[in-house]
Amino acid sequence: MEKTVRVRFAPSPTGPLHIGGVRTALYNYLFARQHGGKMILRIEDTDSQRFVPGAEEYILESLKWCGIEIDEGVGVGGPHAPYRQSERREIYLKYALQLVEAGWAYYAFDSAEALDALRKEAEAAGRAFAYNYEVRERLETSLRLPKEEVEARIARGDQWVIRFRMPENEVVEMDDLIRGHVSVNTSTLDDKVLYKSADRLPTYHLANIVDDHLMEITHVIRGEEWLPSLPLHYLLYRAFGWSGSQPAFAHLPLLLKPTGGGKLSKRDGDKMGFPVFPLFWRSPATGETARGYREDGYLPAAFINMLALLGWNPGTEQELFTMEELIAGFSLERVSKSGARFQPDKAKWFNAQYMHRLTDSELAALYQPILRAHGIEVSDERAGRAAGIMKERAAFITDLWDLTSFFFVAPAAYEEKQARKYWKGDNPRILRELREVLAAIDDFSLEHTEQVVHGWIEQQGYGVGQVMNTLRLALVGAGKGPGMYDVTSFIGKEETLRRIDNLLANLTPAE
Ligand code: GLU
Repeated sequence: MEKTVRVRFAPSPTGPLHIGGVRTALYNYLFARQHGGKMILRIEDTDSQRFVPGAEEYILESLKWCGIEIDEGVGVGGPHAPYRQSERREIYLKYALQLVEAGWAYYAFDSAEALDALRKEAEAAGRAFAYNYEVRERLETSLRLPKEEVEARIARGDQWVIRFRMPENEVVEMDDLIRGHVSVNTSTLDDKVLYKSADRLPTYHLANIVDDHLMEITHVIRGEEWLPSLPLHYLLYRAFGWSGSQPAFAHLPLLLKPTGGGKLSKRDGDKMGFPVFPLFWRSPATGETARGYREDGYLPAAFINMLALLGWNPGTEQELFTMEELIAGFSLERVSKSGARFQPDKAKWFNAQYMHRLTDSELAALYQPILRAHGIEVSDERAGRAAGIMKERAAFITDLWDLTSFFFVAPAAYEEKQARKYWKGDNPRILRELREVLAAIDDFSLEHTEQVVHGWIEQQGYGVGQVMNTLRLALVGAGKGPGMYDVTSFIGKEETLRRIDNLLANLTPAE
């Protein structure tokens, strides 16, 4: 029987989650859902130096906003709890010692100063220092020191680390679901630290492998930056005797700068005016802030749709996908090997597409807070109707106020250019006539008003554009807005007449 698919998203809480991380979470989620599997959230917080308060909450909130549901893990619980590595610290030492016992790892006592000196020495000789098979036998390790001394040093509280004993000159053969077959000679790799006595914590490599094993992870889907660690991870599985149940690996391509060269960074976003984080973030340490897609007015579904296509392609022309469609259509085979270039304009385009598809009641829910912030108290019906009339011209919910404010507030001033153009000649007189035509209408519905006013314009031989633009000046105060009957029917007869009277009373016609 096929094993149940179990994937994990395993972020480290070192700051706000980059959109590349959100994409990793998304691909894991799509894969899990498609296979009827489980999506696990594990927080990898064993690097106490890089821990940032608030980052874990940020991760949870981001996933929630995106609609990426967690089946097991931090915030949810599950059969392998706890899912926060700092709460699993008791687990790891045993595994590190097991590797020492089997000769796959060793104790190293070198002080930071001693390692620094070695690094400088190598640099002076024009080499990079690597802690590896060439030097380990000569350093302060259990490979060289007698067993009694190693024990004595540990007993008297000397600081130590456990390092992986990377084999010399062995080719590791690996498979990646995206990149295919990869092989690496172990002589190019160093002896990574697996465990540190100083904080009694494992490093990423050990904790990650142990937890993926214990949590029965079947597929590791993660960013390309982890590909260089893959040989070590393969060897760790072998060293533990777990190769048979080792997960399959898939390394996702980088998200690249809009210009193509290099990884997408916060600086690119700042420079070009787009966020690289899902939510707004304020650093608790420095107070520094970063923009977020949510606060910038993006709809989560649009954001997710855009991210899904950065690295995966459906093989068809289709661009708009609901989460259900993504779950059905996603495949690791169609994830590209090369980096995906981020396009800020495309992000906006996606949002606009989703904006245009919102129903009036969905629009109302999103628009009401903005209306309230402007001191406007209206029914959901009216908020949604106004937004619905103008949504085609909006890319963001935040665009709506500029596009619809005249539905709720009469013009306080008249745009100069528009006034100079239309508030002259016969137009004030014609507007006065139009006022009487409107005053006589009982049924102020869009269709009826249009029919009556147009009949009158035709009968009088006036120019439609001329009349409508003069009316627009009265109702909107500017040269923008939808069709005038959308406005008259929305604001109603009384308000329409009042706005016309305001213009007649307050603006002197141009020469
Ligand atoms: N904690 C690692 C990170 O922050 C996880 C890498 C992995 O998925 O193995 O990206």
